[in-house]
Amino acid sequence: MKNMKCLNCNKQTPDTELYCRHCGVKLDYTFDEVTEKLTEEIKQEKAEETEAFFRWIMLIAILVYFSGFLFNKLWQNPAVPTVLPGYAPSVKIQEEPFELYKPLVIPE
Ligand SMILES: [Zn+2]
Repeated sequence: MKNMKCLNCNKQTPDTELYCRHCGVKLDYTFDEVTEKLTEEIKQEKAEETEAFFRWIMLIAILVYFSGFLFNKLWQNPAVPTVLPGYAPSVKIQEEPFELYKPLVIPE
């Protein structure tokens, strides 16, 4: 006695049975029916693989897009002037620190 796979529920059923033990579907498939079913399965599998591939591509594209926002600042911010011993600063350093809380002077 050999086992065969039911094309309806994908469970193993002895090939001597006329009906599937698990789902009760008749097992006397014609060659064309089997071919059609298998072709359909392969098509679905391929479609799922393609879908998964493009999902990865999209994920990577989104990651690259948003990491662009993070690294954007590196190009936008001006170089911070630094004074190294023995070197004259090429950029004029702001003498006074920026006053955040400048007192408001109302003219009389
Ligand atoms: Zn079955």
